Amino acid sequence: MEQTINWSDLSFGYMKTDYNIRRYYRNGSWGELEVSSSESINIHISSTCLHYGQESFEGLKAFRGQDGRIRIFRPEENARRMQASSRGIMMAEQPVELFMEAVEKAVRLNERFVPPYGSGASLYIRPLMLGLGALIGVKPADEFVFLVFVTPVGPYFKSGFRPAPVCIMRDFDRAAPLGTGNIKVGGNYAASLVAGSKAHEAGYVAVLYLDPKEKNYIDECGPANFFGIKDNTYVTPASSSILPSITNKSLIQLAGDMGLKVERRPVPVSELASFEEAAECGTAAVVTPISRIDDLDENRSYVYSSDGKPGAVCEKLYRKLLGIQTGDEEDPYGWVHIL
Ligand SMILES: *Cc1c(COP(=O)(O)O)cnc(C)c1O
Repeated sequence: MEQTINWSDLSFGYMKTDYNIRRYYRNGSWGELEVSSSESINIHISSTCLHYGQESFEGLKAFRGQDGRIRIFRPEENARRMQASSRGIMMAEQPVELFMEAVEKAVRLNERFVPPYGSGASLYIRPLMLGLGALIGVKPADEFVFLVFVTPVGPYFKSGFRPAPVCIMRDFDRAAPLGTGNIKVGGNYAASLVAGSKAHEAGYVAVLYLDPKEKNYIDECGPANFFGIKDNTYVTPASSSILPSITNKSLIQLAGDMGLKVERRPVPVSELASFEEAAECGTAAVVTPISRIDDLDENRSYVYSSDGKPGAVCEKLYRKLLGIQTGDEEDPYGWVHIL
């Protein structure tokens, strides 16, 4: 069935594509890659992913360049981060090559869903891993399934690259100080849903979480990392409860090569007043400049943009990163994986 997709009208949502990939881990080893056209999986009702949150996921994007070729951004980084997630919640680690094979296959088989160059849209790739089996006691599973599906997504900014407001709420933590904040697991997201919907209801795009131990330092922005710009310096928090963002890692490199100083260290809330620009960054958000941080407990606002325009440094970083991802800019770092 051929369908026509209005590429410029896509949101960040799910659209059915032709195929997805599965690979099972049983009896101590990973099996063959399987291709499926079903959107469902059949798993035991007692699987650990369902009861005890033994689940991890990843998110990355593929772009079509002006040359028509498909570019996947830093997939090996996602493969390694998923291994770290597996170690963190006692799931089987998947070799990087197997992850890569599955991601490449998922993109190739759904090539007709990779949005055209210039549409502003991209193909979002979602790998995930689930603990399976007939278990009821709290212990790690010994069977797992690794899945990859893809879906075309529109630009994060429907109305263009615009700064958005976030808020600080001290009544909620997304992760514990020495918990699972530094790995990409579903449980962190379940824990963030109440705070996230409260923030959305109040008109904010995200919650800017503080460190869960002292509530004195900036952690991250819901599903995205935080950075601030001041005195020609890129400042991003260091914390045991932050997810190490591949976008942030890339921006740190770009900022340094653009001549900015880079600091990765604890960032106290009191420092927010000194930033000239602030932003959140991640695969979905790319770079989303922050217009304003409202500290709802202290009744204070930190304003970075009041005219609807992004700051100059955020804009430069955004253009550079997106340029490398789409192939418009050279990739001296070897980040782009061309299919
Ligand atoms: C995935 C994620 C990010 C962004 O990471 P990227 O690799 O840049 O996509 C940031 N914070 C959290 C909590 C995440 O789950």
